[in-house]
Amino acid sequence: TFGAVVRTPGQPALPGVKHVILVGSGKGGVGKSSVAVNLAASLARDGARTGLLDADVYGPSVAHMMGMGSAKITANAERKMLPLEAHGVRFLSMANLSPAGQALVWRGPMLHSAIQQFVKDAAWGELDYLIVDLPPGTGDVQLSLTQTIQVTGAVIVTTPQDVALIDAARAIDMFRKASVPVLGIVENMSYFVAPDTGLTYDLFGRGGSRKLGEQFPLLGEVPIDVELRSDADQGTPGVLAHPDSAASRALQGVARAL
Ligand code: ADP
Repeated sequence: TFGAVVRTPGQPALPGVKHVILVGSGKGGVGKSSVAVNLAASLARDGARTGLLDADVYGPSVAHMMGMGSAKITANAERKMLPLEAHGVRFLSMANLSPAGQALVWRGPMLHSAIQQFVKDAAWGELDYLIVDLPPGTGDVQLSLTQTIQVTGAVIVTTPQDVALIDAARAIDMFRKASVPVLGIVENMSYFVAPDTGLTYDLFGRGGSRKLGEQFPLLGEVPIDVELRSDADQGTPGVLAHPDSAASRALQGVARAL
């Protein structure tokens, strides 16, 4: 059964944490982690105390995108995990626990307790926002999280491609069943502007997210941007490295809409 913790108005999502925002997608590879990292960096740059939890336990990429792929998590005197910090964002990722390149072969109950520990046995401190990068799809981790913390809402990332949109609709349905409000849709890889000719290409189609968005606000349309990708590979969120690009401006717009 899918018994979510129903958020009590006026109660904090977690002690000391004002808002927990889940970033989910139906399909993998649509840019969910990129959106989560850039949202967190954007909020922090605007002065919000921001945490980022990499709950994409099967493909944790947040640590690398934050430039901290080889850092190791330590504990404080109360044996609580100390979040790492980069670009003004406190973050925790399974990648900083397990040796690089090793796969996690965990079953549901172990995943549940790992996520519980990341949320409850970590010294997050006072936060305005905790952004959570979920694994793609509708599985154990998503369920576990909605049962562990009072979530403010979820942001769904999709591309304009039909297969991604169909899966995004499924993710939306999961959040609805778990009583998690869907705050809106981020359409990633919306279009590509060729730098040499200035021509716009709709590589994955056009307009589909607007159909999904009839029920939920379309929070932003993020173009394919080579710098956004290379900044992530080099460990600096694009919103900080290239704040004036169309992709960064779209992502900053999403952060300000939260
Ligand atoms: P997911 O978390 O959905 O699996 P990622 O955020 O890891 O997706 O993105 C997959 C790949 O696509 C990464 O290499 C990332 O840098 C790249 N990427 C994501 N969004 C964009 C974009 N708008 N423009 C260019 N590359 C992108």
